[in-house]
Amino acid sequence: MTTPLDNLLDFDQSALKAYCERVGEKSFRATQLFRWIHHRGVGNFDEMTDLARSLRAKLAGVAEVRPLAAITDKTSADGTRKWLFDVGQGNAVETVYIPEDDRATLCISSQAGCAVGCRFCSTGHQGFSRNLTTGEIIAQLWHAEHQMRAKLGLGANERAISNVVMMGMGEPLQNYSQLVPALRMMLDDHGYGLSRRRVTVSTSGVVPMIERLREDCPVALAVSLHAPDDALRDRLVPVNQKYPLHELLDACVRYLEAAPRDFITFEYCMLDGVNDAPEQARALVRLVRDRVACKVNLIPFNPFAESGLRRSPRERVQAFADVLQGAGIVTTVRRTRGDDIAAACGQLAGEVRDRTSVAQRMARGTIALVRADSARH
Ligand code: SAH
Ligand code: SF4
Repeated sequence: MTTPLDNLLDFDQSALKAYCERVGEKSFRATQLFRWIHHRGVGNFDEMTDLARSLRAKLAGVAEVRPLAAITDKTSADGTRKWLFDVGQGNAVETVYIPEDDRATLCISSQAGCAVGCRFCSTGHQGFSRNLTTGEIIAQLWHAEHQMRAKLGLGANERAISNVVMMGMGEPLQNYSQLVPALRMMLDDHGYGLSRRRVTVSTSGVVPMIERLREDCPVALAVSLHAPDDALRDRLVPVNQKYPLHELLDACVRYLEAAPRDFITFEYCMLDGVNDAPEQARALVRLVRDRVACKVNLIPFNPFAESGLRRSPRERVQAFADVLQGAGIVTTVRRTRGDDIAAACGQLAGEVRDRTSVAQRMARGTIALVRADSARH
């Protein structure tokens, strides 16, 4: 059997330095190599013209820049572009490019499937397949950045992507060891040069890893809250049973000591008759106000067949937002993008095989949610 080539996308700059030394090269070559790969988007050693021919030949024998193969590549009427990438063994992950007036955001996946199993999330319904490697996480940015640069006719020193959000498939903080080097590459001036404020990790609330991220690589933090009390959150976001709200909010407060932004973004997916009542908005105010500096982002639920849940009506979302705003909490309602190509939050289904039958358990209604008496009107 032949030894597989090392994937240079797995290495942040310091790991690439160590790698160069291991193969008998001076460590400063790593910076040149890193710039060729990430800054210039070059994956073929022959094109790295300022590296000695002997080094290029040596690298070609032991290493490669391993891209992900795109199964589909669709652009929505609103400019949102979605790639479905093959990650082997019937698994696929999605990456979404979202252009706006003043920025362009890439939404990146961290796992094939997800083990958290949130009730309203199609990735959660698929169950967990596997963690992505650092190389597979950064390959999504590598691919999208250089394809968009070409499409937009940008030069080598211009950037197509200004922001990254780890809000695709998977729970990034349950793939911590592979995530952190990828974040470092995003921040590296020789890589993608993104500021810490423009890289956001979104988590369902894996408390110990929030603590570690604060120390290892603080970036902007979004926390998927979705409920104002433990009883409801236990059912919507099962990781809450392990790390209840008071622990989560304490972790948020501590995170802010090191964070690049002076607030946490709380995401709250609006589910009709489940978590969208005005009294639940008031409970949310009581939970967070005077405790953690935050903004709230209300996400209209994107329905999918097996969920059995409905999107809150627009007026209901507005009334909920009004309660929060009235209490002085900055609140935004997320615009749904890329609907026509199923690129919106929670629609990232991919082709991931269901290994844990979460979908069946959910379909059998072991986790019944919608209250029959939803107190509307
Ligand atoms: N696992 C991480 C990041 C990926 S999910 C997390 O949960 O934060 C990114 C965001 O999309 C989360 O806030 C999640 O709650 C939200 N989301 C998931 N399914 C959704 C759906 N069907 N409609 C709207 N938002 C959804
Ligand atoms: Fe996993 Fe996030 Fe989906 Fe929950 S919302 S199942 S944590 S991807």
